[in-house]
Amino acid sequence: MQEHTVKQLATGPRAGTWVYAGRYIECCADAARRVMAQPRGRRARSEAWRDIGHPTPVGAYAHMREVLLDRVDLERQVLGWSGCEAPTPSGVCAEPTDKVAALPGLLFYRPLCGAHRSRQTVEAMWDGPGDWTGSW
Ligand SMILES: [Zn+2]
Ligand SMILES: [Zn+2]
Repeated sequence: MQEHTVKQLATGPRAGTWVYAGRYIECCADAARRVMAQPRGRRARSEAWRDIGHPTPVGAYAHMREVLLDRVDLERQVLGWSGCEAPTPSGVCAEPTDKVAALPGLLFYRPLCGAHRSRQTVEAMWDGPGDWTGSW
């Protein structure tokens, strides 16, 4: 099983900065792909390094959270109806719904009604990613 957590880059132009990573860099993955798209001899000088790495572990966790929240699927249709699980001042909403909000993999998969199927609700209900083991 792959472990996903923050790591400090040991080598390269951004050594000492922090990224969220499993086998590969996962939070700054777009920039890492731009570096790898360069011919091998030019990778170390790629401009994309500027977008890789954070000064603190907290920054790396926060970036991973943004990347995952950007991928939220708010319109996933499921078979059968469940009560909306969005928190409300008096408990949970409980409005029947046949749709869920989902984050990649099974990090987050919760029934939410039309009024609550928004990124803000997901942000309020999910405090991830934290550290975990598995695949997206
Ligand atoms: Zn990052
Ligand atoms: Zn609701």
